[in-house]
Amino acid sequence: MSEMQKNKKYVVKKFGGTSVGSIERIEKVAERLIRDLNNGEFPIVVSSAMSGETNKLVALGNQIDPNYRGPAYDMLIASGEQVSIALLSMALHKRGYQAKPLLAYQLGIETDNLYSKARIQHIRSEVLTNLLEQNIIPVVAGFQGVDADNNITTLGRGGSDTTAVALAAALGFDACEIYTDVPAVFSADPRLVPKAKEIPKLSFEEMMEMASLGSKVLHIRSVEIGAKYKVKIHVRSTFEDRTGT
Ligand code: ASP
Ligand code: MG
Repeated sequence: MSEMQKNKKYVVKKFGGTSVGSIERIEKVAERLIRDLNNGEFPIVVSSAMSGETNKLVALGNQIDPNYRGPAYDMLIASGEQVSIALLSMALHKRGYQAKPLLAYQLGIETDNLYSKARIQHIRSEVLTNLLEQNIIPVVAGFQGVDADNNITTLGRGGSDTTAVALAAALGFDACEIYTDVPAVFSADPRLVPKAKEIPKLSFEEMMEMASLGSKVLHIRSVEIGAKYKVKIHVRSTFEDRTGT
C-alpha cells in the first residue's frame, strides 16, 4: 500500500444477522460505518445474512433431502449473505460512498472441501488491498469460502465471525470488531438472564471455554484464529455507543 494508505486506520467490522435484519437496520449500519469513516476509520465490512434467512434456507434444503450435505447445500445456505452484502453496498452507495460487495470466490477465501464445516486455508489479500487503495469499501460475505474445485463452501453456523477474524489476520491487523445485538459479552445470555454481568475483558482461553459451553456470542473457530494470529476481538453493540468487550 502507498504511504498515504499506510497512515490510514483500517478496521474489519463484522455485522451479525440482527444488525442487518431489516432495510431500516441496514441503513443504520451504513450510517454508523460512514460516521466512523469520517472519524478516521476506513472499514472492511463483513456481513451475516439477514436474521432468520439462513434458517429458512436450511429448512428449504431439508424439505428436498435432509440427508444430503455437499456443494449444493452449501451454495444454498450461503446465499443469504449475497443478499445482505448487496443491500448494504447499495445503502453505502446511496450515501455517496463507493462500496463493492464480494462473495468468497471473488475475494479468494480458500477453504478445504468439508462442506458445512469448511476451514479457511488461505485468503488472497490482493483484491482487498486493491480496493482499499482506491478508497472502495469492501463488503464481504461472511460464512462462506471456495474450495479448490471452485465450489462454494460454508464455515459452520455462526461462521461469519470467523470470516472477519481471518480477514483481519490475513491483513496483519491486531484487532477486529464484531457488532452484534448485545452490547458486550455477558456471563450468561442477557436476553434470558436479566442479572447477567457484562464482562469488559477476557482471554482467548476464557472465551473459547464460553463458546464450548454453548455461548453463541462468537463462533469458536474465530476465537482460535484470534489466539493464533494475535487478533484481539472486540465485541460491541451495533446500535448503542458502548465500549463492549
Ligand atoms: N448466516 C450464517 C448463520 O446464520 C452465518 C452467521 O450468521 O454467522 O449461521
Ligand atoms: Mg453469530
